[in-house]
Amino acid sequence: MKTLIAANWKMHGDLSWADKPAEFRGIYPKDKSGVECLICPPSFLLPALVKQGEENEILVGAQNCHAETSGAFTGEISAPMIAGLGATHVIVGHSERRSLFGETDDDVSAKAEAALNANIIPIICIGESEAERRAEKELDVATMQLANSIPDCAKGANFVVAYEPVWAIGTGLTPTLADIRVMHNHIRGLLTDRFGQKHGANIQILYGGSVKPGNAEEILAIDNVNGALIGGASLDMESFAAIAMAA
Ligand code: PEP
Repeated sequence: MKTLIAANWKMHGDLSWADKPAEFRGIYPKDKSGVECLICPPSFLLPALVKQGEENEILVGAQNCHAETSGAFTGEISAPMIAGLGATHVIVGHSERRSLFGETDDDVSAKAEAALNANIIPIICIGESEAERRAEKELDVATMQLANSIPDCAKGANFVVAYEPVWAIGTGLTPTLADIRVMHNHIRGLLTDRFGQKHGANIQILYGGSVKPGNAEEILAIDNVNGALIGGASLDMESFAAIAMAA
């Protein structure tokens, strides 16, 4: 399985950011066949980034999609639209979408299904809140979120899971390495239970939450951590490349 190093630029950037894939490749050459790099920019940058991504062997994805293919949904973008632009992935269920825009597991599942129907790979995000972690409920939360956010039509390795504890996103805090190991083993077990050993073992499980050049190597070395989803540290190509290098 390849290691996926994914950037979530959130609502940052302007048209000049279309040059970032080339900047990234200037720092991190294309010599690591085991590492896939993905940038998820704001939607307005998708066409320019896809073009630059092709030239620089960087995958490009969206940060969200609507569950419907088209319709009267002002401000939304659909999975077929994203696929039509040449993007390969879409993040669904990021904790900011869940907390700020009220998305439920059912919404996330419908969006993931729309992505699969459009032949793009959903990155399905799950993760417990600080209160849930304090109450030692994180494994139960992951079990419920995974069961309800992965659509019935998902089979095998056509989707990615990102474990992102909400309290670690953008805070500089991370779980201990042991806690990440326990969670990722738990998620792997849930995936193999549901999809069988052959498929479940090949689903990429990303860790996200305050990944930086300084902690990437030790996090990416943990069993069943198959990549990272990176917010803040992905905005600067020096640090994004340093994380890819650590992989
Ligand atoms: C994220 O938003 O998915 C994320 C992991 O952010 P950060 O790396 O800034 O914690």
